[in-house]
Amino acid sequence: MDILAHALWAGAGVALARRRWTVSPRTTALTVALAVAPDLPHMLPVLWWSAFGAGSPAALAGYAGAAPSLEPALPEAVQFLSHHLHCITHSAIIAGVATALLWAWLRSLWIPMLGWWSHIVIDVFTHSADYYPSPVLYPITRQGFDGVAWNTPWFMVLNYAALAASYAWLFRTRRARAGNSSASLS
Ligand SMILES: [Zn+2]
Repeated sequence: MDILAHALWAGAGVALARRRWTVSPRTTALTVALAVAPDLPHMLPVLWWSAFGAGSPAALAGYAGAAPSLEPALPEAVQFLSHHLHCITHSAIIAGVATALLWAWLRSLWIPMLGWWSHIVIDVFTHSADYYPSPVLYPITRQGFDGVAWNTPWFMVLNYAALAASYAWLFRTRRARAGNSSASLS
């Protein structure tokens, strides 16, 4: 899914969670940041190559918005690093190990991890066999699930309509709650 929608869904999830649990602004920011973060590291090798190597800003833009088999030609090492960084940040196995290690260290679940998990779960279903299937079981396999590619026009419309409806509902019910509490205080 696109980065903006990842951030918005994570934000909606946190807003809903805050109705039941106390979530600090720091945890909120980190959760949303981790929901976006998995799509960034694989850009770094291409960014580096564009800034310091033979690459260009046009190649970087081409890579960021690429369609399968239309990617700009990249040096082998850049291609290799980008590919594996993308696999690492989209793997439920890697995220599972990271979650378990942090859990053991902190002796409780580190809540912002749920942002990363939201990204992995959403991407599994919003990529298709012919549109970068999400490598959720990397490093065991780089195969992914055949879902609906997030950039399919009807899906984009549906996704943002669902986001708009979710935020409208969150906003409306928040106002209703605020109204109720002020009513009960007066
Ligand atoms: Zn992603």
